[in-house]
Amino acid sequence: MTDVRLRYDHIRLLDDELTIHAPNEACGVLIGMKEQSSIIVEIVLPIKNSRPSDRSFELDSKEHYEAWNRADEEGMEIVGVYHTHPHSKASPSAWDRQSMENYQTLWVIIGVDGINGFEWDGCVKPVEVVEVD
Ligand SMILES: [Zn+2]
Repeated sequence: MTDVRLRYDHIRLLDDELTIHAPNEACGVLIGMKEQSSIIVEIVLPIKNSRPSDRSFELDSKEHYEAWNRADEEGMEIVGVYHTHPHSKASPSAWDRQSMENYQTLWVIIGVDGINGFEWDGCVKPVEVVEVD
């Protein structure tokens, strides 16, 4: 894929996630659909970080499961995950890179310098974040 489309309210929510949970990382999923080379996000759904840390995160398995059901009910799918970097830039840490290889989906990272998207395709590749109305 080449880009991910987020609305202004999504971006506001993601920015809030960064500050509300600091110094720990926050995490959640992105629900929406895939269209050709774009990912259209309809819902940004925060999920409890079941292993709070300022260096990594773990999606709470029960809430993650509920998110799959919610996406299914809405006729959509989980198209990606997000997490925050309250102390660093919006680029994958060594831990993130390993996790990306194991969970190959869109990864959105909210850092002190903004929001970036990535995917694993043999290596970490950037996915452009586009703000839409
Ligand atoms: Zn990270």
